[in-house]
Amino acid sequence: MAKSGAIGLKTVFGGLFLTLKHLFASKKRRVMDSVKSDNYFTEQNRGTNTIQYPSQQLPVPEVGRYQLFVEMDDCIVCDLCAKICPVDCIDIEAIKATEAIGQTSDGTTKRLYAAKFDIDMAKCMYCGLCTVVCPTECITMTNQYDKSVQELDLLTYKFSEMDPALAEEKRRLFDEQQAEKQAAKLAAMKKKENGE
Ligand code: SF4
Ligand code: SF4
Repeated sequence: MAKSGAIGLKTVFGGLFLTLKHLFASKKRRVMDSVKSDNYFTEQNRGTNTIQYPSQQLPVPEVGRYQLFVEMDDCIVCDLCAKICPVDCIDIEAIKATEAIGQTSDGTTKRLYAAKFDIDMAKCMYCGLCTVVCPTECITMTNQYDKSVQELDLLTYKFSEMDPALAEEKRRLFDEQQAEKQAAKLAAMKKKENGE
C-alpha cells in the first residue's frame, strides 16, 4: 500500500514538474532561427508554443514537401505523374496534336495538349512521387504551405489554361487528320489489290 502511494506521489510530482517546466519555458520568446542552423529542430521546441502568424513565419526547409506547382510550358502531358500517384489526385486529359507543338526548356518535343491538368491538394499526401517520375522535372514541390480556403473545391488547382472550345477544336483537327490518314491507307490498299 505504502509502495503504491509512493508511486502515485512520484507520478503526480513528475507531471507537475513537466507542466511547470513548459509553463516557464513558454514565457521565453521563440527565436526565429534559420532552417540551416544546426539546432533548428531543437529550437522549435523551446520558447512560446505559438508565433505571431502570419506576421511571423517559421522558415521551412528548401527541400520540404509543400504545395505542388506545374510549369505547364515544360509539361509534355505524359501522364506519368498521374499514374504513379497513390491517391489518384492528379487528373490529366491529353489531346494529341496533329504535329509537334513546341519544346520544353530541356529540349523535349511536345506533341500533346493538356485540356485538363488538375491536382486535388486536399487528397494529396505529399509523398513527392510525382516529382520524382516527371521526365522534364516540371512538377515540383514549392515552399508554400498556407493555402487556407473556405470551400474544399478551391483546393483543386487547375494548371491547364486551355479553353474548352479550343480543346474541342484540337480534338476535331486530330480526328480529321486520322480520318484522312485512314482514307489514304485504304485507297493505297485498294490500288494494290487492283494491281495499279
Ligand atoms: S505528392 Fe504524391 S499524393 Fe501528392 S500528387 Fe504527387 S504523387 Fe500524388
Ligand atoms: S510527369 Fe511531368 S511531364 Fe508528365 S504529365 Fe506529369 S507534370 Fe507533365
